Amino acid sequence: MKTGHSAKRISPTPPAVHSVTAKRRAKPSSPGKKYAAIRRDLERQRKAMLAEVGEGLANPNGQEAFPDVSDQASVEADQNFSLRIREREQRLIKKIDEALDRMDQNIYGICERCQEEIPYPRLKARPVTTLCINCKTLEEQEEKIRR
Ligand SMILES: [Zn+2]
Repeated sequence: MKTGHSAKRISPTPPAVHSVTAKRRAKPSSPGKKYAAIRRDLERQRKAMLAEVGEGLANPNGQEAFPDVSDQASVEADQNFSLRIREREQRLIKKIDEALDRMDQNIYGICERCQEEIPYPRLKARPVTTLCINCKTLEEQEEKIRR
């Protein structure tokens, strides 16, 4: 907490807060830089997954590959399967988006539970995580107890 507020308060008109343009202020110590490599990974992964999902949506008539009617059941099973995969992908895309948001807000890499910094190797291995390994373990233990 900083308490070094000066008594000067000369600001008759409030500054335009909502000028959230492309201007991104560089803070003195920009912690976002620290995760540049992870951000690149996440963005690449997100793009690849979106392309995949988009492909699936653009070509819903996968049946053409199975002209035989007797294969219809397996086609449906395939579709259910790919639907489940797609759901999982979309969940992951959402997590990636959230991770990128946290990077923008400079709160990426901070454990949601204990507010400690999550060690870089863990982030590198699991970039969408929001918990440090201790808290993750605790959470898993709690979930087991609750069941
Ligand atoms: Zn923690």
